[in-house]
Amino acid sequence: MNIYVSAPHSVLDTITFGNMKSNPKRYCLECGKILHGRSDKKFCNDICRSAYANKRYKTTHSEIFRIHRILLRNHHLLEEYLQNGFSQISVRELYLRGFNFDYFTSIHTKSCRHIEIFCFDIRYIILDNDVKIWR
Ligand SMILES: [Zn+2]
Repeated sequence: MNIYVSAPHSVLDTITFGNMKSNPKRYCLECGKILHGRSDKKFCNDICRSAYANKRYKTTHSEIFRIHRILLRNHHLLEEYLQNGFSQISVRELYLRGFNFDYFTSIHTKSCRHIEIFCFDIRYIILDNDVKIWR
């Protein structure tokens, strides 16, 4: 009589036959290949180890990457205006070109009239409908 058993690897791999106990198979956390060697090994090589670590880092820091991209975009836009000799741009134009006014790197209140907003090394103040920028 044949008995067919269907079970996940982890169950079948730990079944013992007589006094021959098989070691449970372990798989690389990144690529899924069977691991050989030390029982605490989690990856088949350094490439898989770093690929796994990079993915985890990107997942847990995704919000930081998102905000950083916004700040870089803002800085790129301001930099472009400065390099083309502009020191004042309309709020509307900046907004339409993708500038995100919700994010900045720091804020300084030098006088009670204006608040200087920094995007890394470029600063700006909002004057009604315009943004005045300088470095
Ligand atoms: Zn691997």
